[in-house]
Amino acid sequence: MPVTNAELTIYRADWVIPVAAPVLADGALAVAGERIVAVGPAEDVISAHPQATVVELGRSIVMPGFVNCHSHLEYTSFRGILDDEEFGDWILSLVDVKAALTPDEYLVSARLGALEAISSGITTVADTSFNAVTLDAAGSAGLRGRLYLEVFGVDDARLDETMADVERRLAEAQAAAPPQFDVGLAPHAPYTVSSRLYQAISALARSRGIKVMSHVAESKEEITYVRSGSGKFAHDYREKMGWERMLVQPYGVSPIKYLQQWDVFDRDFLAVHCVQVTRDDIRILKAKGVAVAHCPKSNAKLGCGVAPLGDLLHEGVRVGLGTDSPASSNIMDMFDEMRTMLFLHRAVERDVSVLDAQKCVRIATLGGAEALGMDADVGSLEPGKFADFIAVDVAKSRFAPIDDPHSALVYGANQDDVRLTVVGGRALFRDHAYTGLDAEGIRRAAFGVREKLRARVRAGGVQVGAAESGWWHPAGPEEESV
Ligand SMILES: [Zn+2]
Repeated sequence: MPVTNAELTIYRADWVIPVAAPVLADGALAVAGERIVAVGPAEDVISAHPQATVVELGRSIVMPGFVNCHSHLEYTSFRGILDDEEFGDWILSLVDVKAALTPDEYLVSARLGALEAISSGITTVADTSFNAVTLDAAGSAGLRGRLYLEVFGVDDARLDETMADVERRLAEAQAAAPPQFDVGLAPHAPYTVSSRLYQAISALARSRGIKVMSHVAESKEEITYVRSGSGKFAHDYREKMGWERMLVQPYGVSPIKYLQQWDVFDRDFLAVHCVQVTRDDIRILKAKGVAVAHCPKSNAKLGCGVAPLGDLLHEGVRVGLGTDSPASSNIMDMFDEMRTMLFLHRAVERDVSVLDAQKCVRIATLGGAEALGMDADVGSLEPGKFADFIAVDVAKSRFAPIDDPHSALVYGANQDDVRLTVVGGRALFRDHAYTGLDAEGIRRAAFGVREKLRARVRAGGVQVGAAESGWWHPAGPEEESV
C-alpha cells in the first residue's frame, strides 16, 4: 500500500547512527506505521516528505534500539541480593531464593525488568524464563523479542514425561505470545540438562523451526563437571536439587565439545557466555554456525572470567551483547555493558585495537539481531525494517563537544540519557516518561516481592522441596524421585 506523506513521522536529530551505514550529522528517520521508510540527511528526508509530522530531537543521537541478547527479566527483584558470591555458591544460593517466589510474583519481578529495559533503550529482549512471564511482562509492555522457555532435567528415566511437559508449556507460551514475540527453548546448562534431554529438545526445535539457547562454558565449575564428573555441580548442586542418585559421567571434554557430540549445534543455537572456550571450541562454534551471547559484566562480577571476544569475532562467530539478569549484573544498562566490554577486552588483551566504540555499538544492536536471527527486521535503521529506535540525549556538558557519536555513547552515556524509546513505530518512553505503563505501581508491587525475598534470605534461605511454588522441576516428576 503506498504511504501518503500525512501518515509519516520524521524524527530529526543532530546525529543519526544507522549502524549498517555511515553516521549522519543532522540526520532524520522517517517512519510510517511500524516500519522505517527513509533514513538520510535531515534536509533530504524532510523535503522529500513535506506533509510529514516532524519530531525535533535536537541534541540527541538517534540509533537502533538495543538488542539485549540475554536477560532473565523474572529475576529483576533479585538485584543486589547475592552480590559477593562466586559463581558456584551464587547459583546454589539462587536455587534457594528462587524457590521463595510464586509464578505471580515472578510476573511482578519481570514487569520491573521490562520497565527498566524500556527506559534504558532496549527494544528487543532475548529473555530466558521458566515461568514464561516474559510474554506478559515484556510483550504486553510493547517490547519485541523472544522468550526462551527454560527446561531442566537430568533424569533420563523420566525423559518422556519431561518432553511431554515441554511440549505442553511450549504450546501454551506460543498461544499466549503477542505478535512481536516468538518462543524458543532454553535447556538451562550442561550441569542441569542431560545429554538425552538436550538431544530431544534439539529434535523438537528443529521439527518446529524454533530457536534454542543454553548457558554454555560459563564457569570453571562447569568445566570440571563435564570433564571429570566432579566438583561443586556434581556434589553440592545435585544434593540441593535432589539429584544425588543420578549418574554423573565424566566426559573428558570441554562443554562445547560435549554438546557438539550430541549434535545440538546449528545456526538456530545461541550459546550464552562461552567464557571457558578454547581455540578448538571457537572453531566448532564457527563451523556449526552457533551464535554467542556475550555477558561481560555478569561474567566478571561472578568471578567467571572474560570470554575471548577478540578470537570469537576474528573467527567470524556471530556475537551479541547481553546484560544477563539483575541477579548477577544488577542493572540492564547496555551503555554500561558496552563500556565494560571495551575496557575489559582492551585491558586483558593489552591491545586497544581489539575493540572500539563503533564496534561496541554494532555488537549491541545489529550484532545481537544477527545472533538471534532477527536482523532482517531489527538491529539497524534501514528502510523496510521495524521502527525500533531510541534517542539518547547528549545535551549535557559531559558529552560536549561531540565529534564521534559512537564515542559519546560508549564512553559517556548511561541508561538515564535515553529520552525516547520506540518499538514498531510506537513510543513506549518519551521525554523520560512511560507512555503506557504505571511505573510507580509496578515498582511498588516489586518492592513487595523484594520484601518477601529479603525475609527468606534473613531466615537463612529455603529448601527447594519445602518451597510453596516448587516450580523448578518440570511438572515435578523429579521431585518425586528424591
Ligand atoms: Zn542466564
